[in-house]
Amino acid sequence: MRFTRRLLCNFGLRATLSAPLWARSGFAQADETPAATPQISPAASPSHLIVIDPGHGGRDPGCIGAGNVYEKDIALDTAMDLNALLRKSGYQTMMTRDRDVFIPLPDRVEFAERHQAALFISVHANAVAGDPSIRGASVFTFSPDPSDPLAAAIARSENSVEAISSPSFKGVSPQVSGILFGLMSRSTKIESVLAQQKMVAALSRHVDMLPNPARQATFAVLQSAAIPSILVETAFLSNPQDEKALRTPYFRHQLALSMKSAVDTWFVARRHAIANL
Ligand SMILES: [Zn+2]
Repeated sequence: MRFTRRLLCNFGLRATLSAPLWARSGFAQADETPAATPQISPAASPSHLIVIDPGHGGRDPGCIGAGNVYEKDIALDTAMDLNALLRKSGYQTMMTRDRDVFIPLPDRVEFAERHQAALFISVHANAVAGDPSIRGASVFTFSPDPSDPLAAAIARSENSVEAISSPSFKGVSPQVSGILFGLMSRSTKIESVLAQQKMVAALSRHVDMLPNPARQATFAVLQSAAIPSILVETAFLSNPQDEKALRTPYFRHQLALSMKSAVDTWFVARRHAIANL
């Protein structure tokens, strides 16, 4: 059975909108008493904190695959795997959520800024209306000017979920996007693009990629002016082959290994990039 992304996402929301709104308390829990307590190695400094952001959660399921696979579950599982790999290597990490709770997009950004993260990685799965042949991973940075129509549609879909779930959130209008991009420091932009390049290179070695996998769009969750931020769309739930892969722990572990490898190379490369600013 073929679904469009909007139908998939809205279906899930309609089914859960009557649930109590517990976004703030859920987020505070993740912040103050996280189940996956941030483990800080003695050698770690605040500038090495990585905030991992599993997309969606709670009443926002994200996209839902034809086999009833929820994006929010795929994102959380992959992000938890990445978190474990990074900690094992001595990185300091925090997660915006470590369980099935709804966290508003602006709060995810604020969380990373409050903790002065060195890098923010948002993990998602994808879906596109009308063309189930589209598949593969892609990596996004923020820009007021989307790189292509598909990137714009994906960002609209991610933001539209938030608009429904949190009426106070204004979304990212072209005007606001332009202002935010202007506020973004040069180093934040450079470090974000560098993280995108490293992530695309690392993922390409292990999983199939969307053509032109490095894309830009107005993702609300990437709008920090201070924290280098990227969003990984791991695969398309609207593609049968991708959906089948996403169901397997092996594939999700390959994604996590790739992302961890990208973090390793990013920390090395950004030292040179900042030195040359
Ligand atoms: Zn998503």
